[in-house]
Amino acid sequence: MKKVFLALGFLLSTYAFSANLHYTLIKKESGKEGSTLLIVGGIHGDEPGGYFAPMLLSKYYKIESGNLWIVPNLNFDSIVKNSRGINGDMNRKFAKIEPKDKDFDTVTEIKKLILHPKVDLTLNLHDGQGFYRDRQIDKNFNPKAWGQATIIDQQQIASAKYGNLAEIAKKVNQETNVDLIEDVHEFNVKNTNTKAQDKAMQQSLTYFSITNNKPAFAIETSKNITELSPKVFYQLKTIEKFMNVMNIKFSRSFELSEENIKKLLSDDGMLEIPPTKITLDLATLKPYIKFFPMSKDKLVYNSNNPLVAVIKDKDEYKIMNGNILVSKLKPDFIEFENSLSSINLSIDGKKSSAKIGSLISAKNSFQIDPINGYRINIIGYSKSGVGSEGGIKVEPKDFIKSYAIDKDETTYMVQFYKDKKFCGMVNIKFEDEKKSKK
Ligand SMILES: [Zn+2]
Repeated sequence: MKKVFLALGFLLSTYAFSANLHYTLIKKESGKEGSTLLIVGGIHGDEPGGYFAPMLLSKYYKIESGNLWIVPNLNFDSIVKNSRGINGDMNRKFAKIEPKDKDFDTVTEIKKLILHPKVDLTLNLHDGQGFYRDRQIDKNFNPKAWGQATIIDQQQIASAKYGNLAEIAKKVNQETNVDLIEDVHEFNVKNTNTKAQDKAMQQSLTYFSITNNKPAFAIETSKNITELSPKVFYQLKTIEKFMNVMNIKFSRSFELSEENIKKLLSDDGMLEIPPTKITLDLATLKPYIKFFPMSKDKLVYNSNNPLVAVIKDKDEYKIMNGNILVSKLKPDFIEFENSLSSINLSIDGKKSSAKIGSLISAKNSFQIDPINGYRINIIGYSKSGVGSEGGIKVEPKDFIKSYAIDKDETTYMVQFYKDKKFCGMVNIKFEDEKKSKK
């Protein structure tokens, strides 16, 4: 009896100590033979070049031969806090880690993935200090700096496929160094000679990999490059050169340039919080939203961006895109009910219907048909009374703009209730005629 109790106690404590936000593994497999590259992003939560690059890889790249496995957000709990490591430095836990360490599960699982028989090579992505140079130039350009470098722990691994680490790093850098944004951004190979010279690096992810006979490199863009888009540009450029070395064929839906990356990064992605059946466009969402219906049950959400997280913060929810705060939701906790799947309405005087959860565009007005047994609540409607707001023609001028959910203040929530239960909503966006003509 005592034994069972102890075992249960152990399980509970293991659960309590593990990460809150689990990392994502995205496998892009071509179905054709070839090598497999594992990308690990976000081991350090305050190095955004190291996690926004794999986010774009996961969203916009297609693999034509071989395989690309992507973990964009390894230390997710630290990423959303913009901290190197909320539980200490995760990249110093690969030689030895106590089971009670909060990073234990994450480190143990990623080690298994690195050692997976299919994985041929691992890249660990970072933003490092300064600009690495093999000779001392000044406080930013010197042998102790980490930025703009491909890091190897030793010259080679004798028996491994892609074991000629120094040669590969040199070749990759030569190609990355074509068409730099600024000449000082050139990449160099930094060999930490980990076994003989670097006690700290002996505990790192890459050293764990190479001591298990599996090639691994770190890619470091520079913390001294303050904008995100050039860092992501260099990370992607370098990763592509590694794919070339490994004969992994890929295509992407955009031309690789800093300007295009900037555009792609400005799209925070879509977020769906299932009970509401609403998909929010995070790039246009207001920084603060009131009266957002949420279920008291376990929080569930989906996004096309693996760096998106919804985090409870006192009596609000923070929507994060990596280390960037997108918006805060002030929840209305309510019981949910599923009986309504679509509604009828008029848009600019024309009869139409819409699924619960959809985004509807109107120019001048909309009017929701009354539904027997349901109450309709148009959030922000200035002439709001106690009754249901079905059958009322509503125009843009009838709204209190602060209730809009988007930055342009043109999108409003229409919510449906049965008794006191919430049955979902639709969002109505008033298209600005001047804007849409542009
Ligand atoms: Zn780092």
